[in-house]
Amino acid sequence: VRRPNMSMVLMLFGQLEKLNRESMLVDPEIARQITAKVLHLIQTQEKTRKEIMSKGSSGMEVILATLEVSSRLIGVCVCVCVSLSVPGGGRRIGVFVSKGGTGILLQLVISASKESPPSEEVMLQLHSVLAKVGPKDRKFGVKARLNGALNVTVNLLKQNLQNHKLLLPCLLVLQVYSSNTVNAVSLGKNGVVELMFKIIGPYSKKNTSLLKVSLDTLGALLKSKTNARRAVVHVPVLLYIYHDWHRNDTCHRHILIRKGILGCLKNITNIKLGRKAFIDADGMRILYNTSTECLPVRTLDPLINTSSLIMRKCFPKNRLPLPTIKSVFHHQLLRVPAGGPVAQLYNQPLGVDDVVDESDDNEDAEAENEVEEKDHHNDDIETDINKLRPKETHSRPFEELKIYERFFMELSEDFQVMQYIFLSAPKSHRQIIVPTAQALPLKNHTAAPLQGECPHPATVPPLDLDTINITKDQDGCGDHTHSRPHPGHNRQSPILGGEGAVLQVPDTALLLPLHDPDLYVEMVKSTCSVPQFSEVAYPDYFGHVAPTFREHILERVYGVQRTKIFQDIERLIHPNDILDKVVYDLDIQSCPVIDGGESLKFNSQFESGNLRKAVQVRKFEYDLVLNSDINSNHYHQWFYFEVSGMRVGAPYRFNIINCEKSNSQFNYGMQVLMYSVQEAISGRPRWVRTGTDICYYKNHFSRSSIAAGGQKGKSYYTMTFSMTFNHKDDVCYFAYHYPYTYSTLKMHLQKLEALRTPQTYLREDVLCETLGGNSCPLLTITAMPESTSNDQICQFRNRPLVFLSSRVHPGETNASWVMKGTLEFLMGSSPLAQSLREAYIFKIVPMLNPDGVVNGNHRCSLSGEDLNRQWQNPSPELHPTIYHTKSLLQYLAAIQRAPLVFCDYHGHSRKKNVFMYGCSLKETVWETNISATSCELHEDLGYRTLPKILSQMAPAFSMASCSFVVERSKEATARVVVWREIGVQRSYTMESTLCGCDQGKYKGLQIGTRELEEMGAQFCVALLRLKRQTSPLKLRNHAHLLDVESDLMETRCKVSSTYLLEDEEQSFMEEVDYSAESGDEPDNDPNTADNHLSDSESNKHRDSLT
Ligand SMILES: [Zn+2]
Repeated sequence: VRRPNMSMVLMLFGQLEKLNRESMLVDPEIARQITAKVLHLIQTQEKTRKEIMSKGSSGMEVILATLEVSSRLIGVCVCVCVSLSVPGGGRRIGVFVSKGGTGILLQLVISASKESPPSEEVMLQLHSVLAKVGPKDRKFGVKARLNGALNVTVNLLKQNLQNHKLLLPCLLVLQVYSSNTVNAVSLGKNGVVELMFKIIGPYSKKNTSLLKVSLDTLGALLKSKTNARRAVVHVPVLLYIYHDWHRNDTCHRHILIRKGILGCLKNITNIKLGRKAFIDADGMRILYNTSTECLPVRTLDPLINTSSLIMRKCFPKNRLPLPTIKSVFHHQLLRVPAGGPVAQLYNQPLGVDDVVDESDDNEDAEAENEVEEKDHHNDDIETDINKLRPKETHSRPFEELKIYERFFMELSEDFQVMQYIFLSAPKSHRQIIVPTAQALPLKNHTAAPLQGECPHPATVPPLDLDTINITKDQDGCGDHTHSRPHPGHNRQSPILGGEGAVLQVPDTALLLPLHDPDLYVEMVKSTCSVPQFSEVAYPDYFGHVAPTFREHILERVYGVQRTKIFQDIERLIHPNDILDKVVYDLDIQSCPVIDGGESLKFNSQFESGNLRKAVQVRKFEYDLVLNSDINSNHYHQWFYFEVSGMRVGAPYRFNIINCEKSNSQFNYGMQVLMYSVQEAISGRPRWVRTGTDICYYKNHFSRSSIAAGGQKGKSYYTMTFSMTFNHKDDVCYFAYHYPYTYSTLKMHLQKLEALRTPQTYLREDVLCETLGGNSCPLLTITAMPESTSNDQICQFRNRPLVFLSSRVHPGETNASWVMKGTLEFLMGSSPLAQSLREAYIFKIVPMLNPDGVVNGNHRCSLSGEDLNRQWQNPSPELHPTIYHTKSLLQYLAAIQRAPLVFCDYHGHSRKKNVFMYGCSLKETVWETNISATSCELHEDLGYRTLPKILSQMAPAFSMASCSFVVERSKEATARVVVWREIGVQRSYTMESTLCGCDQGKYKGLQIGTRELEEMGAQFCVALLRLKRQTSPLKLRNHAHLLDVESDLMETRCKVSSTYLLEDEEQSFMEEVDYSAESGDEPDNDPNTADNHLSDSESNKHRDSLT
């Protein structure tokens, strides 16, 4: 009886249900007939299929129930399921899975297995459809195991090894099962690995699809290290088979089979035994030779890439060519805190080889637990609500802070007397005594160098032909008779050739108002360095005039990384081609003598230089080793060194072999910077982006666990670039980013002071001395009061404060260029600058880590620590600049004058554009699941105003890259501490890219000093707009600027990419297998897609530079 609105199929289902309820009483033939009708409808009517798959339909369940009643119906039931799932492709399979189809199919497998003997036809059909459905169901492996279907398939396989028709779908299903780790281990125990080796074999035209599937299944099984161990004995067989297919598959019809074999080798060589078996079986030579033969055929690239991955993994690990990884230079701390990094570094027992570990393999019994789909949520987000609230108590008594009053004279100035001093005595500097690290008498940094200023007065160094020398006399007074422009009688210029020749210093006075070569040398004399540098690098001396041409982000040439890696592998294959000649070495007293013309000359013994060693590998190839940060054994990233003695037109390759980060913008179009002295004296004194064939990849130099935070089995990374030089007798410099030395800062500050107009209030104090004996300048910039009337003085004193700092991380030189832009704008004569000075009092610490900058560190100060992780509890002895900067802020908070804005300038090595990190309670809470009532979450959205304004006016700035989520790992950074402890709502880190922009006006261009300085100036203008928007009249209205809703949506979508940096660094032509343990060619299999970075690697990725 059919109700009018009921479809045919629903009616049939109704009948089936009724039969199921009456079960035993009915002739199964009736049920079979009805089911057959259903099947017919499904097979012929799209409408019916849709109906069964629609919401609320219980069709599938009815089919299953029918089956339970009569197992004889299995054939037709299977047909129903197959018809439902197969046609229509992926989307329909998705619906089928979501309606519980997998479970039903698996139950059908179990039911079918109970028939004796099981129907081959049914099993064939079931496995065919399972093979299609399985990959679409994330829980497929687990379901199959719990259900017992795993063993059904395995037994079927074992009993039908010759039945190729049935074998194929079974293998396909097995492959899906194997992607689950627990299943893979269990299948291995059941002998499935051995089974696969029975199916695969040498070149044959028969059964190639079967072979292909077996190889893929085997590959999936071998991802389990337990299974890999079972397969180690088969490594020679796999290599033999691979070579056989390589030789016979001349038309390349079976690339997938060849790839499958390599996939198995790739997984077996994940374990140490596997790598050993590979080397013993001459795997390096076999894969090297086959790959070389594949090179001309582009379609064989996947084979070459996987081969190179395997070879890199198996390449015997080398030690870095160093006696120790501890920095070459050691700075004796007055007090070494027990348990601190320096104590750890220098308390190792004598004789410990810290360069390499014996036990250098991370192959501990691996826990092969089930890895369920991991959420990509960031577990670094702060979830402790108390840490997201302002800290209530001020830990320090006001009495203690009172000494900082002297840095804020503008807050009490009455100008009755001061006017005279300020306006007519521009060089007025008062002695200010503050507690310092070494309790040395403080000096005024612009005065002539004091006697005994440096802890270790430099002895007269030998003259150097390539760099400008300054010598410091015993009494500490500098003398630079050997410096250019007059090289002096003892020097012969390599550039000019003749004795006594006069070097033409490029005249840049007009283009670089803040630069003066003579003044620079003066500044260098009072700079204290641990290595006691006595030379000046030309670029710092001449200055840098930003080029006017555009420097595009480099498009990566296809196959660069592969070529480089093959050249590295050739070192092993053709050891006789390798020179291995040390041409520069700071670890030995006298650097090797370089024979004329055969090798390049290297040098980096000047401020910010940090090359430790150079080894000539081949005629035109050099391995370079960077020095660690002083009192540390790692942090290699920044570099700055000099090269001379080059041949014009020769194709030089440079490899920096001890890089540590797992990826770099050098893989995404960033170039190194080069400065040619010949170009400079021809009127083009400038750093230019240069280098070709640039890439960054994991190399075969093993990293000691001592330097890898206890992690074993880590490798270093190589940054490689190629270069041909254009000038004979040139001296060239290479740097990670535009250098900006401490002496440069001192020079700029002096020149800025000279720019001061009577309307400008500028005071320069020495905040404190650093551990290395350098002074840390503190600037106060505002406008002089218009008059000495009470009103004006009052307005003057009550201007809100803006507190800026930069360069806590020495390797982030871009931060200094942004700061230069800010300072130059602030001191400028434009009406905007004047308004800005009238609006605020600026307190600026332009270089928080002078010692790190001077000594060529990348990240740390002389205490061997990252100063931007010390803000919670800075030590006056170990972190004086942080301690005193924080004290200034604490003083301000104590007198109720906490700054309106705090911003610390940084550089970001992984991302493009300029952007800000800020702190928001609400946005942090929204990112997590902390329960907090909405009233607790009252928060003004004002922290978004400044970045929003910046995104509207500064072309390099990207709002989409900003984040306001507080992370645990950042709780001791300036931004978070100033927000939480000082109560500054607008507390930021401003990050500038080292690479370039991917949006806005500068899209596709690498960043230069012009853009960085512009950013610093735009920051000022943005502050002026902020002032207008937060003035009392507008205070209520500033919300109109903030389309908070859409902004939040935008950032919240981006939030995950802030942390999971691989998002930022994806996709370009060549697959980057920068991590040899992972990262095969792009893989669409959902089960392996997130394996591209091993866990430890992805954690490292979060460790961004802030
Ligand atoms: Zn930084």
